[in-house]
Amino acid sequence: QGKRGTMDIVVYSGEQAAQPHQWLVVQAELRHALERDELILHYQPKVGVSDGTVRAVEALVRWQHPERGLVPPGDFLPAAEHSGLIVPLTEWVLRRALTDQLGWTAAGKRWVVSVNVSARNLEVPGFPGLVAGLLAEHRTAPHWLMLEVTETALAGDTDTVQRAIAELSALGVGISVDDFGAGYTSLSHLRGMPVAEIKIDRAFVKDVAHDPQSRAIVRSVIELAHGLGSRVTAEGVETAEVYRWLIEAGCDEAQGYLIGRPVPWPQVEPDFSLPVID
Ligand code: C2E
Ligand code: CA
Ligand code: CA
Ligand code: CA
Repeated sequence: QGKRGTMDIVVYSGEQAAQPHQWLVVQAELRHALERDELILHYQPKVGVSDGTVRAVEALVRWQHPERGLVPPGDFLPAAEHSGLIVPLTEWVLRRALTDQLGWTAAGKRWVVSVNVSARNLEVPGFPGLVAGLLAEHRTAPHWLMLEVTETALAGDTDTVQRAIAELSALGVGISVDDFGAGYTSLSHLRGMPVAEIKIDRAFVKDVAHDPQSRAIVRSVIELAHGLGSRVTAEGVETAEVYRWLIEAGCDEAQGYLIGRPVPWPQVEPDFSLPVID
């Protein structure tokens, strides 16, 4: 696949010797997967809680393996992160996501595209420049792109990461704090950080219908997010009961199997019918 000329493969050979054999196999195969274009993106809708319309779709990578079938990201992202292959992988994801975004925009859909980035990406000094270049290449206005960074990645809190977040935000790209509540970030990390969205981890969301403590945590995160001027999204919404609770709690957006599973973009449902409130 020669046209992706910028896909330099970064391998930290010093670390390789210590890795289990299996990881070396995954890494070698993953390198081929990138070259042979075996990765695909599925998109999961994120809806406004008030009206149920799709606001954004999140790109979730899968590996269409010739023998093993559709491999979920949890099975190869750790190896990609460890080897540095996450760098060209993320560039591939960004390119594909921005191209797909042009596709649904042409079809009349006003959906932001959310892309997950790892801490490793933010530590590469040229990353904000890469994003700016890709936006220009696709003639996409920056507010159509959101980057989801896990709370844990932000906790790495190096100057490089902070600077990358500031630069990306200055470009006009939205920054989302993913899996909020699951990591170890002290709240002080959020101070001064330009955060457009906070996503509450599924671990808390899934229990709000029954568990008073989860409810208290989700309520606090909603209040915190709003206090910081961010929108708040609940992830992992699986039941109408949870969705109804989120409406009342003042959550802005919701995502989860109730609303839609990750699918290739033409299959994303344009609207989902709101659960009846009684
Ligand atoms: P995430 O960013 O927290 O994404 C949500 C994960 O939960 C996805 O799993 C999604 O399919 C799943 N999910 C969504 N709604 C529900 C629900 O209602 N119930 C349950 N049980 N699960 C739900 P997936 O696609 O396997 O991705 C796992 C993780 O892999 C993602 O977690 C993200 O951290 C990472 N990931 C996926 N794609 C990329 C990528 O392109 N780049 C990077 N750096 N990471 C990615
Ligand atoms: Ca995410
Ligand atoms: Ca998440
Ligand atoms: Ca998660």
